[in-house]
Amino acid sequence: MDKEINEILRETESKLKHQFERIDEIAFKNQKKILKAFTDARVSTQCFAGTTGYGYSDVGRETLAKVYANVFGGEKAIVSPILTCGTHAITTVLYGILKAGDIMLSVTGMPYDTIHATIFGKGNGSLEDYGIKFQQIQLNEDSSFKEQEIYEKVKKLQPKMVYLQRSRGYSSRKALSPYDMANLFKNIKALSKDTFIVVDNCYGEFVDDIEPTDVGADVIVGSLIKNPGGGLAPTGGYIVGSEKAIDLISARYTNPSLKLEVGSFEMGYRLFYQGLFMAPHTVAQALKGTALVGQIMEDKGYKVIPSNNEKPQDIVKSVVFNTAEELIKFVQTVQKVSPIDGYVVPLPWDMPGYTDKVIMAAGTFVGGSSIELSCDSPIREPYIAYFQGGLTYEHVKAFAEKLIELY
Ligand SMILES: *Cc1c(COP(=O)(O)O)cnc(C)c1O
Repeated sequence: MDKEINEILRETESKLKHQFERIDEIAFKNQKKILKAFTDARVSTQCFAGTTGYGYSDVGRETLAKVYANVFGGEKAIVSPILTCGTHAITTVLYGILKAGDIMLSVTGMPYDTIHATIFGKGNGSLEDYGIKFQQIQLNEDSSFKEQEIYEKVKKLQPKMVYLQRSRGYSSRKALSPYDMANLFKNIKALSKDTFIVVDNCYGEFVDDIEPTDVGADVIVGSLIKNPGGGLAPTGGYIVGSEKAIDLISARYTNPSLKLEVGSFEMGYRLFYQGLFMAPHTVAQALKGTALVGQIMEDKGYKVIPSNNEKPQDIVKSVVFNTAEELIKFVQTVQKVSPIDGYVVPLPWDMPGYTDKVIMAAGTFVGGSSIELSCDSPIREPYIAYFQGGLTYEHVKAFAEKLIELY
């Protein structure tokens, strides 16, 4: 039996040889980009030291922001453990740029679930409360942009912000490539030069060899307990963009007179630097792991999104199951192979804010980190398990080995 499983693992890996080579090439390019960014920003061990209180001239904080701006090809950045998560970072961007009477135009349909309360609602301090209007254009069936509709709306509305979400969240569309954004961004700028193009880059960092900022996005934003934290950053978010955009956002992030002059973190910044340094490799490990699991499940006849012959644009993979039981077994297996709480059996439960029961597996070192192997799913048809991450390929391979036995 063990011999048979080993044989299947070896055969599956041999099918993935070319994919793995491409993943390694991208990681190599991104690693060099990061090394250059560290040197150009003159990172030294002094940058790791913590500060307290206001954190005026906190070298660690300031240099970390420079490194992020360099890596992502922006002019300025906010990188901070004070941004509690991706949602908080995105929300800070929206409140920073949009003012009363402005229009936010999303061209990738409805933004990620946790952003809804930022945009809509009366009396809760949402954008709607402040007189900011939201409009959206869905993607085409094949996940391409509805270009003509976008150009017509941009020309007519002159929106303050065009918003995109690179990853797919809990939908079955494809994640977007920065290469596919280049032309769109150029045309938007030609039609409305003062529009800020903002990309929710969560789960997309280092999956490709360029980022949306390299093709003209004014702002990209994401979470440090996903890709760019490399599994080491304990919490936080980042915002990178043009000087003009970051200036507006920093006035909201702290206050119009303080902007980026303050911010301390007594624990120190080493893990943020080291995590970013590790991130291209960690993302490559996660991508290889999800490719292996995807191939195994596809070979067993399950539909996998994105399918294994497509080039991924984020670190999320999903498997479509026929029954709730099959789905629950998959999520429970993720938990079983987790280093933390591996003895716990997760069950579907009623989570605040969700209409269906949800099951989650997250045996992670950093609470809720999804660059670590993790999985979650609402219990409803179609029964889709969304899984992502894996700090080491070997960890995900141990999960894959169990799947060969179970399905
Ligand atoms: C995770 C995620 C967010 C929100 O990030 P949190 O850190 O969970 O608040 C927003 N958008 C996308 C596409 C995400 O994947």
